[in-house]
Amino acid sequence: MVGSIVLFGPPGAGKGTQAGRIVELTSKPQVSTGDMLRAAVKSGSPMGLAAKEYMDAGLLVPDDVIIGLIQERLQEDDAGQGVLFDGFPRTIPQAESLEQIATVSSVISIEVPDDAIVDRIVGRRMDPETGEIFHVQFKPAPPEIEDRLIQRPDDTEETVRSRLEAYHNQTAPLADWYSDRGLLIRIDGNASINQVGVSVERAISRIL
Ligand code: AMP
Repeated sequence: MVGSIVLFGPPGAGKGTQAGRIVELTSKPQVSTGDMLRAAVKSGSPMGLAAKEYMDAGLLVPDDVIIGLIQERLQEDDAGQGVLFDGFPRTIPQAESLEQIATVSSVISIEVPDDAIVDRIVGRRMDPETGEIFHVQFKPAPPEIEDRLIQRPDDTEETVRSRLEAYHNQTAPLADWYSDRGLLIRIDGNASINQVGVSVERAISRIL
């Protein structure tokens, strides 16, 4: 049986955009720690308020908080056949904890060079009603919903630089970690949304 799948890559690689296709193809629920943290921030819980300080600074939220969130999420009924992790794990200790609680069948790494990332993130907009992600240049929203689109508070150029630094220092080493375990599938993410989607579909057909 295919267990969980990890969608891996730098901020702005297109993980959230491509996750929808993978959910359709695999019927596994998407588990995005970024979305879970944003929901906690919105709820005003003490954990959310503490996490917000890290998120606004472009830093990673401490491992114990993230691991606690994931442990709780994996108890839910829909997680029994494995899930699609999006934005998790982001550190080696997170991956080591995950190994104890779930089986990862494959890690799809969407690779995008740093110089393409800043433009992608700074132009990113979200529809708060549907969660759909647009881009002012690469994926414009229909004019009738343009007014309600929002920009994430951490999608500014300054914060992106910190997020990239955190990615290179703390998250990128996981590519070798998963490659050593024979689980890493690399995809060129420096292409159009549709082209990347085709590569994602190909990777999924190798996994299923
Ligand atoms: P994302 O939506 O995946 O880009 O995540 C937004 C922010 O939430 C990140 O910049 C981190 O501050 C925090 N975050 C999300 N997932 C994790 C994680 N697995 N480990 C640590 N921090 C995380």
